[in-house]
Order: sequence, then structure tokens, then C-alpha cells
Amino acid sequence: MFFLFTCGSHTFQSRLKGAEHLTVQCQNCGNLSGHVYKRWQWFTFCFVPVIPFSVKPWHEVGCHICNFYQDIKYRPDVQAQIGDPQHQQGAVPMQDYNGGGGGGGGEGPPPGHTYK
Ligand SMILES: [Zn+2]
Repeated sequence: MFFLFTCGSHTFQSRLKGAEHLTVQCQNCGNLSGHVYKRWQWFTFCFVPVIPFSVKPWHEVGCHICNFYQDIKYRPDVQAQIGDPQHQQGAVPMQDYNGGGGGGGGEGPPPGHTYK
């Protein structure tokens, strides 16, 4: 069996608006090299994004030295620097960005991970 078409996923990434110039410490390598990114993932067919895995982009602190990415919810210090009221109110229920995926159990991502 051989498939001529290619399926996969593509993650779009851009600097988070309002935090473009923010430089924070990386909790993995300790360097002051972390930047705040907005990321959202799409399902791709023949390299063309067709279905967004996550309608709502998520925010991560990324380090360009060790390629360590961490969800911003684990970085209250960064949230405080951004001053985003959406992240500062602990009473607001968390939005599950895995919604509709039907897999994974909705536990959310691990505290940190490294992209290759
Ligand atoms: Zn790092």
C-alpha cells in the first residue's frame, strides 16, 4: 500500500501581539531568551491546511536556544508582564483548546515540551 498524498499537521506561529518585545527567562536552559508566541495547529492535506485542530490559538513561551516551549498558563510571571486581563483572572474557566478532537482525554499539554 502506497499513499501518494500526504496528510499531516502544520503549526502556525507568530509573536503574541502586545508582547513582541518581551524577553523572559527560559525555565529549561535558564537563559534570558524566551519569547511569547501565539500558536495554532491545522490539519493539512497535501501540505494545504484544511481543518484547524484548534480554533482558538494558544499562547506559549518559546526559547530559540533550546527549542523549549511552555504553555503560558505555567508562567504567571510572564502573564503579569503582558498584563493580559484574560490571563490574570483565575476565576475564568479554562478554555479547552482540544475541544471536538475526541481524543487525548482533554488533559491538556504537559507543562513543557521540546519541538524538534
Ligand atoms: Zn531555553
